Amino acid sequence: MTEPISQKIEKLTAVKGMNDVLPPDSAAVEWLEAKVRALMARYAYRNIRTPIVERTPLFIRGLGEVTDIVEKEMYCFEDRLNGDSLTLRPEATAGVVRAALEHNLLYDGGKRLYYIGPMFRHERPQKGRYRQFDQIGAEALGFAGAEVDAELILMAHALWQEIGLLDVRLELNSLGQASERLAHRKALIAHFEQHAEQLDEDAKRRLYSNPLRILDSKNPHMQALIEAAPKLLDFLGAESLAHFKALTDILQANGVAYTVNPRLVRGMDYYNLTVFEFVTDRLGAQGTVCAGGRYDYLFEQLGGKPAPAVGWALGVDRVLALAKESGLPDVSPALDAYAVVTDASALPLVLSTLQALRAAGTSVQMHAGSGTAMGSMKSQFKRADASGARFALIFGPDEIQARQVTVKPLRDASAAQQVLALADVANWAATLQSAA
Ligand code: ATP
Ligand code: MG
Repeated sequence: MTEPISQKIEKLTAVKGMNDVLPPDSAAVEWLEAKVRALMARYAYRNIRTPIVERTPLFIRGLGEVTDIVEKEMYCFEDRLNGDSLTLRPEATAGVVRAALEHNLLYDGGKRLYYIGPMFRHERPQKGRYRQFDQIGAEALGFAGAEVDAELILMAHALWQEIGLLDVRLELNSLGQASERLAHRKALIAHFEQHAEQLDEDAKRRLYSNPLRILDSKNPHMQALIEAAPKLLDFLGAESLAHFKALTDILQANGVAYTVNPRLVRGMDYYNLTVFEFVTDRLGAQGTVCAGGRYDYLFEQLGGKPAPAVGWALGVDRVLALAKESGLPDVSPALDAYAVVTDASALPLVLSTLQALRAAGTSVQMHAGSGTAMGSMKSQFKRADASGARFALIFGPDEIQARQVTVKPLRDASAAQQVLALADVANWAATLQSAA
């Protein structure tokens, strides 16, 4: 027995920063995902689906302790059975590498993978920055050459072309190798020590633990200081420079414009050599739509056999926000037909007819009444119109009697109404398909 509800129940809402995606907006997400799946197939990247929850140490070891994500953005909780610390994934690269190690994916050579799914970060919600957000990412595991860095960048570039984002800029940098970063690090610390009074709290804290990350600061008061800092590119040796040149040669040959941004360091510690971002000026402070780079040491860092790797991730919300500004094509799902039914006793026959139509590829929305009352013809036609369907399928008493259906064009005034035998609807559906 349920008790009558005596007090007012508090209204339940979604968690702050975690958004519902409702129709028709969800159609835009599906449109982007379909574009991405087709794109990935053309570049021979295969889908990987890793769990949303991973063990917390994966991210601490993978991303680095002194990163925004690990320091303050992770959703961690205890497994109530054994007390293990678990985390809602803030990004997917660490999980993909964990899976590659766990399943020995690279036993017969490199693998090209992509994923689509939600990530979780406890950030301050604002435009373009949410606590649950979708990312699409591509990872090429087991490849050391700059041509794979180039392939990934060309693939993202092709996506922008395809979805009409013509003003995203590519920024590139090289983080070199650990020994090169060490020499740069010394110079960097000396530079910031000289101007310690200009450092904010975050920068002071990172001065000795992770000074490179200070370059990524968005604090406007520190920009001049950062601008004047020693550039990592000036510390690179011949091999790192050759890798960078091999990449830029391919980009140039493919007409992909880029700027070298010596301050670009990225938010995770796992990167080396190539790092890049695709940025826009149209989204305010949240201007990075896609970011990535090479992470040749992550496999080792996670306890596995060393393997080079490179990848990127794009923020679905930001990409779609941009695409909408540029003007999306009509992405609303098309509806072929709306079934108007006058008498509930005809429903068994009507539904089997609709099944045959759908099996033949037609999209049909059934008018649903409440039990035996189907509603007046007039109100059903109103709904048929509002549904956007091209045709109304009229199952009236005469039609049912004769085992027929009347097909009434709703959008094309010059098209004639026709009557079909129920046995013939699949043929009619086929003519719709071939016309499409
Ligand atoms: P930012 O500097 O904007 O915080 P990030 O360096 O943390 O970005 P990555 O971890 O590289 O971003 O994630 C790749 C992409 O995912 C970003 O370029 C962005 O488009 C998207 N993204 C990251 N965090 C969020 C978020 N909280 N909400 C929505 N999209 C996000
Ligand atoms: Mg961030």
